[in-house]
Amino acid sequence: MTGSANEGSDRRIPVAVLGATGAVGQTFVRLLDGHPLFRLAEVAASERSAGQSYREAASWREGTLPDAIGELIVKTCDPEVVESRIVFSALDASAALSVEQAFARAGAVVLSNARSHRMDADVPLVIPEVNPDHLALIDLQRSERGWPGAIVTNANCAVTVVALALAALRETFGVRSVFVATLQALSGAGYPGVASLDAIGNVVPYIGGEEEKIQIELTKLYGTLTESGIEHASIPVTAHANRVPVVNGHTACLSVALERTAPVPEIEAALSSWTGADVCTGLPSAPEQPTIVLDEPNRPQPRLDVDAGNGMSVVIGRVRPDPIFDVRLVALSHNTVRGAAGGSILNAEVMGRL
Ligand code: NAP
Repeated sequence: MTGSANEGSDRRIPVAVLGATGAVGQTFVRLLDGHPLFRLAEVAASERSAGQSYREAASWREGTLPDAIGELIVKTCDPEVVESRIVFSALDASAALSVEQAFARAGAVVLSNARSHRMDADVPLVIPEVNPDHLALIDLQRSERGWPGAIVTNANCAVTVVALALAALRETFGVRSVFVATLQALSGAGYPGVASLDAIGNVVPYIGGEEEKIQIELTKLYGTLTESGIEHASIPVTAHANRVPVVNGHTACLSVALERTAPVPEIEAALSSWTGADVCTGLPSAPEQPTIVLDEPNRPQPRLDVDAGNGMSVVIGRVRPDPIFDVRLVALSHNTVRGAAGGSILNAEVMGRL
């Protein structure tokens, strides 16, 4: 094998994963295995990994590694070397800035998980059930940057769980302000991530840049598309981000002030019946229910609930009145699936439908 898998009569679109050896890259590889629309043709990573087989280069942590993928030779993240025109990026932000631009300049559509371009005015920041219309920014991006490709980003993993948990509340009741404290999984720090002596039996009450991302990215995600770009929404949010010894799954404890308050059953009904934008319906990676509400008083829990909807559903529980705000709730989502690779793949599926 020289760097592509499952070719022959396969009519699926060949795609590449940049940063394929890391935590998010591995989730991409797992989710793309057997995908009905996309064929994982190429994997790429840093010079440290390039030239090795994927099996040798990746410290594989995602179950059984498909043989054909294990034999792929890891390429460098160079648009002259990677042939696929749809490129999923799980690159470290230090590399993403220039590499993703180089791919877009060379004509590739880059679906990125890195923070590097998320807040650029001409780059869509998209959670497909929430703001698929923002993909129209690609036209502005192409005319401003003069490149034939595109960069499309998905939100930070903690932002994703908060944005999806609040989406139905915004649409049904209006949201005035939000307090959120997150309990974020170790895999959110990549692989090998947090040192074991810092993680085990401990809580680290600091994740660099995370609180700011929660406060800022929400304003773009919920913003309004205009001819000149995104008009950001005003949504006062105060965030506390904590790293906890959980393998996968970011939990967010939210207190929310609503424009129109409502009894808990009405709020739960709004959350559990929310389906998000119609454009997602029936797509391979779209969960039947983007937000699931559980009644049990001790749920959601990462160990029990993180894989709901193949890791693409946000699981919500403990919906109850708040004595200062209007309502309190707990939301959980899989950080490397819904908050990263799965979200990116769903973005690509939506782009194919528009
Ligand atoms: P990670 O485990 O550290 O993986 C980083 C990947 O980037 C590896 O494949 C690494 O390749 C590659 N890389 C590093 N420097 C490079 C360079 N100079 N040139 C080319 N490739 C390079 O990190 P991760 O957690 O998967 O995160 C990947 C991206 O997704 C980051 O931007 C992160 O902020 C974002 N993100 C992560 C999560 C999450 O839950 N982990 C969620 C949302 C977004 P080598 O193995 O060859 O070094």
